[in-house]
Amino acid sequence: MRLVRGTEVLPVDPMAPDRFSLERAAEVIRGGGLVAFPTETVYGLGANGLDGEAVRRIFQAKGRPADNPLILHFDALEAVLPLVREVPDWARELARRFWPGPLTLVLKGARLVPAAVTAGLDTVAVRVPDNAIALGLIRAAGVPIAAPSANLSGKPSPTTAEHVVADLAGRIEMILDGGPTGIGVESTVLDASGDRPRILRPGGVSREALEEVLGPLDEPVTASDRPRSPGMKYAHYSPDAALYLVEHPNRDWVARTVRELARRFLAEGRRVGIIVGAEHVDAYLALAGPDRLTVMSLGRGDREVAANLFAALRAMDERGVEVLICEGYPETGLGYAVMNRLRKAADRIVKPDGADLEGKGGS
Ligand code: AMP
Ligand code: MG
Repeated sequence: MRLVRGTEVLPVDPMAPDRFSLERAAEVIRGGGLVAFPTETVYGLGANGLDGEAVRRIFQAKGRPADNPLILHFDALEAVLPLVREVPDWARELARRFWPGPLTLVLKGARLVPAAVTAGLDTVAVRVPDNAIALGLIRAAGVPIAAPSANLSGKPSPTTAEHVVADLAGRIEMILDGGPTGIGVESTVLDASGDRPRILRPGGVSREALEEVLGPLDEPVTASDRPRSPGMKYAHYSPDAALYLVEHPNRDWVARTVRELARRFLAEGRRVGIIVGAEHVDAYLALAGPDRLTVMSLGRGDREVAANLFAALRAMDERGVEVLICEGYPETGLGYAVMNRLRKAADRIVKPDGADLEGKGGS
């Protein structure tokens, strides 16, 4: 155990978490305190989900707007039932298929759920995480745990305990350090409170996997459908650097455009970062001004790219990068969630016809 600005950081084995650590963390939760813990997606910032006062502390610690509701975490579907009014058969089927796992279901909420959790909506977002520390903590605490990502509001979500320390040490009681999270992007949020399922936020369960069970899904909600998913109106996942996202199916056009942009900003004397897939790193290494240029690879394939994305955004900020240029990725599998996060983080989306789009997700 170490103390950072008064926050206890406790290393815990993610494969076999010890009872002592889980019990200490559960005591903090039961006492109305805040504990950050790993899930299979990103680190969460947890409080007793039935205690409105404890939940309000999450919003304070993160600087999160109070109208952006939280997800309640449970250890099994049976534990969810008392807190919701209705679970459609198809949502039950999804829970059986994908829980524990990175799928959040928005259901009609019971009156027992504090308004601080739901931001006053009559729906509640629920999931069962696939991580032994998270499940052990929920069981030891004996209550559902309300948890958004354990970052300062507006920062990329944390995928290591060190990211949580950087953002929240001194603001919360405890951090359970279970090493890097596996998936690296947040859960998929699916609206299951109406007649038809609808993706509110792409995430760790791919659209393709959901469609195998549900058939073709409607187009996801956009920022203009505000009441449906309050979180969508906020610029999330933003690094400090100005982010240029270069999107096009033609990889040559993307590589050429990224190089042109990098040359232009380097010539202006600015610190430039480039984030690309492993396949394209070589194409950018020949650029001049190496001390002012950082090139990072996110790896190969949608899963590696998702797992490395947020850590790369944070690492670029740590290096003092002023302009960050990111390649777009194919929107298959987890690429759909990756592009959703990059578009929200982007200050500018660069596309072929010269019609650059303003980014920041309509905030
Ligand atoms: P976070 O925990 O920060 O990763 O974000 C949780 C996401 O779930 C946000 O996008 C919220 O807006 C969304 N969410 C939580 N509860 C609800 C709800 N009752 N209805 C719609 N979206 C929700
Ligand atoms: Mg978040």
